[in-house]
Amino acid sequence: MKKVGILALQGDFDAHTKAVERAGATAVEVRSAHDLDALDGLIIPGGESTTMLKLLQEEKLMEPLRQFGQRRPIFGTCAGAILLANEVSSPSQESLGLIDIGVERNAYGRQVDSRIASIVPEPDFQARAGSGDMEAVFIRAPIIPRFGSAARELARYQGDPVLVEDGRHMVATFHPELSNDPRVHELFLQKLP
Ligand code: GLN
Repeated sequence: MKKVGILALQGDFDAHTKAVERAGATAVEVRSAHDLDALDGLIIPGGESTTMLKLLQEEKLMEPLRQFGQRRPIFGTCAGAILLANEVSSPSQESLGLIDIGVERNAYGRQVDSRIASIVPEPDFQARAGSGDMEAVFIRAPIIPRFGSAARELARYQGDPVLVEDGRHMVATFHPELSNDPRVHELFLQKLP
């Protein structure tokens, strides 16, 4: 069985563990560089990206994660997407720079910052992962105002990309691990070597 690491420093890593197992892979919690050995891919969960960044720096995990991302797929949800982006605004902060997108943090505003929406994934997503609408849970989500020419939108909400693939990596601004729909995690498993 494929082994997927779940970065477990902060945030909702437990829900990803269950989602990965439901999609048919083994989930392994990652807290140090050594834990990355022998993994086929990694998920960086949602949470608070500034706190997670601080913990990554303290644990000296930034460089090992960048190197891991040169050879294996990483899927980032919400705060994880912010950490993977190569440009972060509102406010700006350091990131892994593994995926060619710009992200604007907390972009839906403070008052109505969490919502559950029904989205229609792009035909390419539906062809690869299964057809039908999808529930998208947004929690103080970022917006992706820019993505590079090699990146592809797999789903949009209100005209903005919310699920984007760039080569081996993928990001979601929503939380597929909180919905009862295995397709996003299943698509990520398809990307593993
Ligand atoms: N607003 C958070 C941040 O900027 C992300 C929220 C989330 O992961 N649900 O890090």
